[in-house]
Amino acid sequence: MRCSRGLSLRTLPGSFVERQRACGRPTCHCADGKRLHRQYQISLLVDGKPKTLNIPARWVETVREKIEMRRRFEAAAATICSVNLKRFLQEKLQEKEKEKEDRQI
Ligand SMILES: [Zn+2]
Repeated sequence: MRCSRGLSLRTLPGSFVERQRACGRPTCHCADGKRLHRQYQISLLVDGKPKTLNIPARWVETVREKIEMRRRFEAAAATICSVNLKRFLQEKLQEKEKEKEDRQI
């Protein structure tokens, strides 16, 4: 698959998480509990264990796009697989019919 290398550069695993938090500094604007800091993270499984990775501020949009790209890629792959499964079952049925016909001859 020629396109897979380009695609692999544009995808990331996990889900994109946006959180709000207080930094803990008493003089910060977030101390009122309302104007909290936005924090962006990737939530994913590494070796079967849940992990949360902070995303550097300048990467947020790129990372969001890469995760979305992977999500779409997986959805497309799932669609293709379910179409192929239907085809497989149909062909299997036809194969059975053929076997029946062969036996009758
Ligand atoms: Zn703060």
